[in-house]
Amino acid sequence: MRCKRCHAAPVAIKLPRHHTALCAACFDRYVVDQVERAIKHYRMFRRDEPVLVAVSGGKDSLGLWDLLQRMGYQTTGVHVQQGIGGYSGASEAKTRAFAEAKGLPLIVYDLNKEYGGGVTAIAETSRRSACSACGTVKRYAFNKIGRELGFPVVATGHNLDDEAARLLGNLLRWQVDYLAKQSPALPASHAKLIRKVKPLFRLTEQEVAAYAVLRKIDYVIDECPMSHDANSLQYKAALNQLEHQSPGTKQFFYLEFLRRQPIVGAESTAEAVVLNECARCGEPTTGELCGHCRLIAPLAQTHQTESGGRNNGRADPSIVSNIPMSVDWTA
Ligand code: SF4
Ligand SMILES: [Zn+2]
Ligand SMILES: [Zn+2]
Repeated sequence: MRCKRCHAAPVAIKLPRHHTALCAACFDRYVVDQVERAIKHYRMFRRDEPVLVAVSGGKDSLGLWDLLQRMGYQTTGVHVQQGIGGYSGASEAKTRAFAEAKGLPLIVYDLNKEYGGGVTAIAETSRRSACSACGTVKRYAFNKIGRELGFPVVATGHNLDDEAARLLGNLLRWQVDYLAKQSPALPASHAKLIRKVKPLFRLTEQEVAAYAVLRKIDYVIDECPMSHDANSLQYKAALNQLEHQSPGTKQFFYLEFLRRQPIVGAESTAEAVVLNECARCGEPTTGELCGHCRLIAPLAQTHQTESGGRNNGRADPSIVSNIPMSVDWTA
């Protein structure tokens, strides 16, 4: 079968949601077009702005980094070493290898070094799920590292499947606050917050995986061993079933939500939130202590006991002062 766009080369991938099938070269152009369209529509970043790219070592984040670098954007990667056994070791190794091969700068942020424990220890001491602890720590680190190093924006590799699954989860529980904040581009709503963007939101997981394979990106194939925690896997499976029966459902579900979001008044709810500064670390929060400081306090207590109180019982509040130790300008 020949490509439906150029009618010359053989088909490399079928795109049922677009009623088409493309060769490798036309698919590559399609992916770049979708990402450029996302960036322009939401004014995610300009070509003269440095972009911090959150990279886990998986297909989405390495695919995103590869795309932005090819498209001429100024990028630096940031990788959180979560301390989850062999999975985290492999993730860091693949991320480092990618950065080295492309000559791109990379920041490695090691939870064991910063907190005295990885995701599992933080989750156990705080009695939270691994994914909840992981998400809180990563969001905090990306924002603080980005701001302190002068990046106006952090980009993550969330794709259409991720965003549609998140939307389904938010709707099933009618989490109106989360619905208000669900967007491919969150503005810097406080002087200490940097913008957060998701340039892959128009591409499905399958399309991003195909891009990574065609670009010969060496990414971590294994899922995080903690992902059994994630409800999002169930939502993705349900949406995939609907998509299989009726191609285009997933894209309609999420893109239509974005189109109608202002109509349902969600954006005005988001703007109404007043942010204070955390009493411990000074980062923006709606309460007295930020979610990050509440999360790591029990682990800090444990370490105080084990270390004979050398840190006076305080969690290390200063990621900023630790950054120079963690920055690894691979390039
Ligand atoms: S599955 Fe959970 S613990 Fe693993 S990387 Fe994702 S959010 Fe973090
Ligand atoms: Zn073609
Ligand atoms: Zn705090």
